[in-house]
Amino acid sequence: MKQNTEKTQIKVCPLCSSEDIMHYGKTKDYFFTQEEFSITKCQQCYFVFTNPVPKNLSAYYNTPEYLSHNTKNGGIISKVYSFLRFINIKRKYNLISLYCKKGNILDIGSGTGELLSYFNKNGWDTTGIEPNENARKFSKINYNIEVYNENKLDDFGLKSFDVITMWHVLEHVPDLHKRLSQISKIIKDNGTLVFALPNLNSPDSIKYKEFWSALDVPRHLHHFTQQSFEKLISYHNLRLVHAEPMKFDSYYVSMLSEKYMKNKFYYFSAIYNGFISNMKAKKNNNYSSMIFVVKKDI
Ligand SMILES: [Zn+2]
Repeated sequence: MKQNTEKTQIKVCPLCSSEDIMHYGKTKDYFFTQEEFSITKCQQCYFVFTNPVPKNLSAYYNTPEYLSHNTKNGGIISKVYSFLRFINIKRKYNLISLYCKKGNILDIGSGTGELLSYFNKNGWDTTGIEPNENARKFSKINYNIEVYNENKLDDFGLKSFDVITMWHVLEHVPDLHKRLSQISKIIKDNGTLVFALPNLNSPDSIKYKEFWSALDVPRHLHHFTQQSFEKLISYHNLRLVHAEPMKFDSYYVSMLSEKYMKNKFYYFSAIYNGFISNMKAKKNNNYSSMIFVVKKDI
């Protein structure tokens, strides 16, 4: 059924608007529909993007697994998951604290609200944006956090926020320049933007090629490298001030990629390849996923 999905062909590079774009490769939605998708590369700025894109993109998120897991079902995996999530949240908090001690934070793609809840407990004013209605409800009921859908981004006043974060979100956003222009308006002049993105130049991307799970088509529309990310933000008077790895991601991404390659021993391979990926990435800071801290150029 999904094979007949209507798709929109993209004619110009979403980053630099060049018409000089070429077929780059094929991959599949291994996570959900098993449907095949093509990827295009711009010959001017080398940006890589999913093309064509299905018109009913939201249907590809319609899987229960895609929601951040909640921690109510008590098994050992869920305990480990919730422990790792706590470490992850604390680490994000510590990173942001280096740039802003306390203030108001907007988390775009806030999921089920655990990160914002942690900031809230530490005295921050918190706002979330989350397209998934069930996740919005979950945040409100469990953590009493105000979470809106994406339309709300146009309603915030100029220079409203000290910190705006998008953790593994920008690769899902259809109109990159529109989103960047929205957030550069609502961030304060000395505010801090934090992005986390999968890295197409990482050793695990190079190893797994079309099986690299962070391609995650068609949910991931854009496949960033540090270079393409820096080019994107430069259009909006924003500049990169810090880049650091998310080292757990190479293990998780390797595990899924091995699974997609039908390796029965994917757990073991993931531990080995995740480690190798992090070792190789040390040379040039090209890890599986990267965190980018960005400031306004004023
Ligand atoms: Zn381009």
